[in-house]
This record gives sequence, C-alpha cells and structure tokens, in this order.
Amino acid sequence: MNRAEMLSQLETTAEWDMVIIGGGATGLGSAVDAASRGLKTLLMERADFAKGTSSRSTKLVHGGVRYLAQGNIKLVKEALRERGYLLKNAPQLSAKQPFIIPVYSWFDKIFYGTGLRVYDLLAGKLSLGVTKILSVKKTIEALPSVKTKNLKGGILYYDGQFDDSRLAIDLAYTASSHGATILNYVSLIGFEKEGKKIVGVLCKDEISGKEYSVKAKSFINATGVFTDHVMQLDDAERESIVRPSQGIHLVVNKSFFSSSHAMMVPKTADGRVFFAVPWHNEVVLGTTDTAIDIINIEPKPLDQEIDFIIEHFNKYNAVAIEKKDIQSVFVGLRPLVKVSGTNSTALLSRDHTILVSVSGLVTITGGKWTTYRKMSEDAVNNGLFVSKQPKRICITESLQIGDPVKRLAMIEAIIAEDINFAKLLHHNFSNTVAEVIFAIRHEWAETVEDILARRTRILFLNAKVAMELAVIVASLFAKELGKDEEWEKEQVATFYELANQYIVS
Ligand SMILES: Cc1cc2nc3c(=O)[nH]c(=O)nc-3n(C[C@H](O)[C@H](O)[C@H](O)COP(=O)(O)OP(=O)(O)OC[C@H]3O[C@@H](n4cnc5c(N)ncnc54)[C@H](O)[C@@H]3O)c2cc1C
Repeated sequence: MNRAEMLSQLETTAEWDMVIIGGGATGLGSAVDAASRGLKTLLMERADFAKGTSSRSTKLVHGGVRYLAQGNIKLVKEALRERGYLLKNAPQLSAKQPFIIPVYSWFDKIFYGTGLRVYDLLAGKLSLGVTKILSVKKTIEALPSVKTKNLKGGILYYDGQFDDSRLAIDLAYTASSHGATILNYVSLIGFEKEGKKIVGVLCKDEISGKEYSVKAKSFINATGVFTDHVMQLDDAERESIVRPSQGIHLVVNKSFFSSSHAMMVPKTADGRVFFAVPWHNEVVLGTTDTAIDIINIEPKPLDQEIDFIIEHFNKYNAVAIEKKDIQSVFVGLRPLVKVSGTNSTALLSRDHTILVSVSGLVTITGGKWTTYRKMSEDAVNNGLFVSKQPKRICITESLQIGDPVKRLAMIEAIIAEDINFAKLLHHNFSNTVAEVIFAIRHEWAETVEDILARRTRILFLNAKVAMELAVIVASLFAKELGKDEEWEKEQVATFYELANQYIVS
C-alpha cells in the first residue's frame, strides 16, 4: 500500500482498535504486537521512523553489564532473554559480537571475570558463548592496538549487535504486513474527548499540511523524550516525568582499531561504561551521559563530550585519534524517568515505565532498544485492559521480523529493470542504487535524509561521503516520484545543513 492509500484509510476507517503515537523502537514494536494480535492498528510518526533516539543507539543488543554491577538482576535477566529473541527473530540485522574488557589490575581481572561469568549464566539457554579470562598474549591477539603498559590480561564475553534504524524499518514492514497502517510524517496534534475519556485524535500530515480526525478504542503514547508534550496535550496540568540524558558517539575508520572484537571499559572517570564497537566496517566509540534541559529532535554534541570520548579511547588504545579523524558524530537522548532526589542521570533506571492516565492514554517510556518487544507487549496489554477490549495472546516472542528473502528478490527485480541500478552508491559502502529505489518504493523513504541517515547508514558512518551522495539520491527521488528541480535543490540544501552537524571541525 502506498502513502496516499494509507492516508485515505484515516478517512475511511470508522474506528481503530489501537492508535500508537511515535515511530521509534517502542511505537513500532507496539504496532507489530497489536497488529499481529489481530487489532486494527494505526501508527503515526511525526518525522521519519527512528528519527529520534532509535537511530542513535550504541547498536548493542545487551543485558547491560552495568546494570549487573548495580545489582539489577531482574532487568539484566529480562534484557538477556530479549537479546535471545531478537537475535533469533531478526538474524538479518543482528548478530553475536565478542567483547573484550582489557584489565590493568589483578583485582579487576578476578572481579570482572567473575561478574561476566554470572552475566553469562543469567542468560541460561540463550547464552551466546562462554566467558573466558584471557592471558596478556591472548588479549593482545584479540585487541592488537590495546595499550599494553601494566596490562594483566582481558575478559572475553559475548553480547549482541544490531542496526537500529534498519530494524525499525523492518518492524514497520512487519506491522504493515500484519495489516497495520503505518505512517511517517504524520503528527499527533490533539486529543478528542467525550467527558474525561479520549475517543479520538487529531493528526496532521506534515507533507501536505492536511489534518485528520480519527476515532479509536485505545491510545498508546510511545514518544520517547517527547512523552511529556503528548501527556500535556491530554492534560495541560500534567507534571513532566522524563529526565532526558544525552549520549554521543564518534565514528572513526577501522584502521584505528583493527579488531573484530569490541572493547568494553566497565568504568570511566564518571562511572560510565565505554565501548569501541566495530560496525559496518567502521568503529563506533561511545558514549556519554549528560543531563540536558532542552529537548531537540536533532541534538548537538557538546565539545566536552567529544573530548571525553577521544581521551578515553586514547587512554586504552595505542593508535590515538584526533578530532580530524572523526568521520561522524551522532547524538541521542535517553528518555529516562525522573526519580526525586537523584541528580545523576547515570543513576536513573533503564527499566521501562507505564502510566495510565484518567483519560485512558497509556504512556510507555524508558527502557532500551534491546527490550522493545517486552515493552511493546506490556503497552498493548495495558491498552487492551484500559479500553476493555478482549484479551488476545501476544505472539511476538517467535515472530519473524522483516522478510530478507522477499526484500532481496524485490531488489533483484529492480536491477532487472536496469543493470545500472546494481551500481554501488559509493565505493566504500555496500549500498546499491537499487536499494535506494527500493527504499523509495517500499520502505517509506520521503527525503534524502531518510535514505542517507536511516535506510542506509552512510550519514552516521561518514558524513562527508553522505554529503557527496545527496545530489544523486535527490535525483533518484525526482525520477521515482516525479519531483521537480526546485524540490531536488531544496532537499540537497536541507541535507547539507543537517550533515554539517555530524562533522566535527
Ligand atoms: C546514546 C544512547 C545509546 C543507547 N544505546 C543503546 C544500546 O546500545 N542498546 C539498547 O538496547 N538501547 C540503547 N539505547 C536506548 C534506546 O536507543 C532507546 O531506549 C530507544 O531507542 C527509545 O525508543 P523510543 O521509541 O521509546 O523513543 P524514540 O526513538 O525517541 O521514538 C519516539 C518517536 O516519537 C515521535 N514523536 C514525538 N512526538 C510525536 C507526535 N506528537 N506525533 C507523532 N510522533 C511523535 C518522535 O519523532 C520519535 O521518532 C541508547 C540510547 C542512547 C540515547
């Protein structure tokens, strides 16, 4: 179904069973859950899918070693279970990743060696491999550029890695293939009520400007750091619950860290975990945890955050990086839930929170990508309960996400139209012209940014290369969608402005 057909459903559907607001991990997961239970489901996302936090993660499918150190065994066990489901249900976008903690004291070797064995045991049957304590020699073999002065060895353990925004698109596909109507560039702008109860929403197509009024039985607010805004559209007096925390990542060339293993430093100067993770042939370094007051869909890195990452990487890695080596910097906001009396965002829980308003609005926030499925199951259960709809069994524990075989066949069919479509967009990236055309036709891409940031990951991997490709991508859109030259120029200019924020000068 194309966008126009989906929009027309906003006018022709008398009443939806469930309306989901927000197209990040939580909202899209909820749409998959609701649609696969047979509910008539509508999801609206104000920007592009995963434009918010869900494209800006460290790309780990993990139990969270840090939460183990904090003693939150329940959260770790739940996340390890979810890690297992995700690796099984979306193998095209997630994989097992070996990690090494380099240790510089005998105490750390025993402490982390024991801790990571417990981590592995907590995964039970879903364990990804046995934790091992490594000699100095084996540690250097696995991490050739690790700093060797006072090195006492390392701990090898396993977690998962994934492509966040690509997974978001596969979730959108899965929800849609189960009958959901999934719309990006549609904002919730208000609620319609009968007495105190919400009975409908007012939403706006951000592309045409047209507004729609839709009726539904239940409503899920999955808007991440924008949660408070949506809750306040329901109840202007509502106190805010989200305490946003900013985390940045730097991406550098693999020559600075030529290992297939990721490196994990369990405790930085500010008590955080630091990662260097190979991703799409480059290396992602991060992250930070900075409490911020202003919520922006395109947050900006602070100079001290960039310095912090460079300093920590260089502390553990013999091949030092400088600002000029950074190919891209991307920034995300954690939707953490406030706890009175806690100032440090690093101490706020990564568990998720569900709130049910008097109006019937079910708000779900917090959590992490790894646990999106369980969060979605809880949100939909609450939505059904609050709206007194009959219980339906959740089937997502073993539901395949995306359809890589069908996707490949459809991309091959595009290449059959013109062999030139098999060409790579850029010699350093594996994405083809055919993939871009596929994303325009079948993956809800509406702008040059959608392609370069979230259908391919080129903006996140190398912002200057992404800028080089903007003109080509705009011309592909023009051919596919019949856009004029002015549209192309405007798209390229808008993308340049955005991409400049991903470049560190
Ligand atoms: C730096 C960092 C690193 C992280 N690393 C990891 C990791 O390695 N592994 C992991 O498991 N988790 C990680 N996380 C956590 C994870 O990324 C988040 O928990 C998750 O992406 C949150 O998803 P969400 O759907 O709740 O929010 P978002 O992804 O922010 O989605 C909310 C959406 O709602 C939309 N919206 C807002 N208002 C409206 C409206 N009025 N109408 C319609 N739509 C609206 C927004 O545009 C947005 O797209 C990390 C987070 C950060 C910040």
